[in-house]
Amino acid sequence: MKHSSYLIIGGSAAGIACAQRIKETMPSCDVTVLTDEPHLPYFRPLITYIINRKKDVSDIAMIGRGPYTCGDLNIITDCKAKSLSIDQKTVSTNKGDFGYDKLLIATGSSPNIPEELKDIRCDGIFALRKLADAQRMSQMLINARHVVMLGGGLVNLKTAFAIIEMGIKVTMIVQSLEILSQLMEPDDTSLLKNAILNSGINVITGKKAIGVISNNNSVKAVVLDDSKEIPCDIVCIGKGVKPNVEFLDNSGIYIDKGVVVDRYTQTNIADVYSAGDIAVTFNPITGQRITTALWTNAVEMGRCAGLNMIGIKTLYAGTFGIMNATQIGGIPFVSMGCVHTKDTDYEVYTHKTDASYRKIVFNKYGTRLIGAILIADITNAGIYRYLIREGKDITKIKGLLINHCIHYGHLMQLNG
Ligand SMILES: Cc1cc2nc3c(=O)[nH]c(=O)nc-3n(C[C@H](O)[C@H](O)[C@H](O)COP(=O)(O)OP(=O)(O)OC[C@H]3O[C@@H](n4cnc5c(N)ncnc54)[C@H](O)[C@@H]3O)c2cc1C
Repeated sequence: MKHSSYLIIGGSAAGIACAQRIKETMPSCDVTVLTDEPHLPYFRPLITYIINRKKDVSDIAMIGRGPYTCGDLNIITDCKAKSLSIDQKTVSTNKGDFGYDKLLIATGSSPNIPEELKDIRCDGIFALRKLADAQRMSQMLINARHVVMLGGGLVNLKTAFAIIEMGIKVTMIVQSLEILSQLMEPDDTSLLKNAILNSGINVITGKKAIGVISNNNSVKAVVLDDSKEIPCDIVCIGKGVKPNVEFLDNSGIYIDKGVVVDRYTQTNIADVYSAGDIAVTFNPITGQRITTALWTNAVEMGRCAGLNMIGIKTLYAGTFGIMNATQIGGIPFVSMGCVHTKDTDYEVYTHKTDASYRKIVFNKYGTRLIGAILIADITNAGIYRYLIREGKDITKIKGLLINHCIHYGHLMQLNG
């Protein structure tokens, strides 16, 4: 049996951030990362560039890039954790058993496939998650004329833009009445909707796919709940994700949808930690349990877990609602904290021009910033994020926040 002082299952945002933090703090210790993927760790949000061939695999590699400079991690690819014994402190895999002193579970999440589409087996149906999915899709797109995307969330929108740039027709079926409904409300989306319209992506809202018609193992059409058939050659399902917890069945680790952790990222079992998409942590604004499917959260949590694993007790500050900084159709945007304000007593300010949009949300007393959406002009988004997370009384700088002219120097006023 192999043994590692620090064993990490999952070699992506959370796992590698954890490994990096351990190694940079204690360079001589041994860290082993197991991943069931055939590839070394890569920046998952960039796989859409693999689809349209704007980047190749080496361009999106994590190790050696940005903060991920620790060279001597033992990363074992094609290694799938099958079960965990907390008594023996071992993880069983297809490559044998691995013992550990401290363990991080960072196995992330997998696409959620709606019940009605679960049993359909044919080429041309994708739920984009891994580099291998993107490589396979890129290959199939060579002969594709029409792609139907199911779901109007972030991953599908990024994928839709990557595909339309290749000159391939894209139709997006969105069950809710709006795109990006988890990140913003309908009134917040107009700039992004314009970008989508201008790109040529056809969006159909309020409809659901109930089946796929295939012939000789190839996709022929998607069937909607109004019985309409949309001919296409590829279907891409983007209906959210679910944490990869199956291998933990009967392990004794407490699962409630994902792996539940305390404020130090530790599970209910001593020496076993968890971070990233798989972890159930807490929302510092509401105090409620939360899982998120975002890179930034996974990295922060992974770093925090790394420190705790080496005995530097570090509180995790929590994950508020949705924090995201990304681009759609070339437009950068950030959505964070409480941004769904309909029927609430929050104090809300919006500002809209032809080129930018912002929504600033305060608590009902107007004393704390609890959410923000910045579209196109995302200057100083980090300050908004800091203030939401810290829950500071912002009364002295409220006007600056509303008018979006805050800068780091102004934060001194809060401490004075
Ligand atoms: C196309 C796409 C675009 C995205 N864009 C953005 C974006 O713009 N902004 C943003 O914030 N987020 C984005 N995300 C989400 C982001 O990538 C995830 O939140 C992030 O990768 C989560 O990191 P993680 O380390 O928790 O898990 P994951 O990245 O899911 O990694 C978990 C790893 O563990 C492996 N694994 C699973 N089970 C086992 C097992 N039993 N044994 C061994 N290994 C296992 C998996 O194969 C995987 O390699 C995007 C995701 C996708 C797919």
